[in-house]
Amino acid sequence: MDYKVDHIGIAVTSLKTSIPLYERLLGEPSYKTEQVPSEAVDTAFFLQNGAKIELVASLDPNGVIAKFIAKKGEGLHHIAFEVPDILAEMERLKKEGFILLNETPKLGADNKWVCFVHPKDANGVLIELCQTKK
Ligand code: ZN
Repeated sequence: MDYKVDHIGIAVTSLKTSIPLYERLLGEPSYKTEQVPSEAVDTAFFLQNGAKIELVASLDPNGVIAKFIAKKGEGLHHIAFEVPDILAEMERLKKEGFILLNETPKLGADNKWVCFVHPKDANGVLIELCQTKK
């Protein structure tokens, strides 16, 4: 398949402390922050040679990221693959028996349509498919 890693998502408690931390780590400023109402999250992006890192913090104490951190702590949250045709890819994965966490693509950060694949189907890793909205 024509998959390219678009970004790696990292769950953090606070962008206020994690943005400067990743700026020190990568030696680069974050190039943007963006709130995603559909997921109740605040995000910050870093670019490293074409691959992005997305810090994700919860805007809602009962949101998915808050729950993830309560259960597992901060850390690697998802790997996102850019696909040329998200609907075709969702169809293909459904036929392969994967459980999709949303039946239709949602508008995610970075002007992209996104769909998540259940982590239990991928060795515990949450997979995000994304396609740039035209
Ligand atoms: Zn993501």
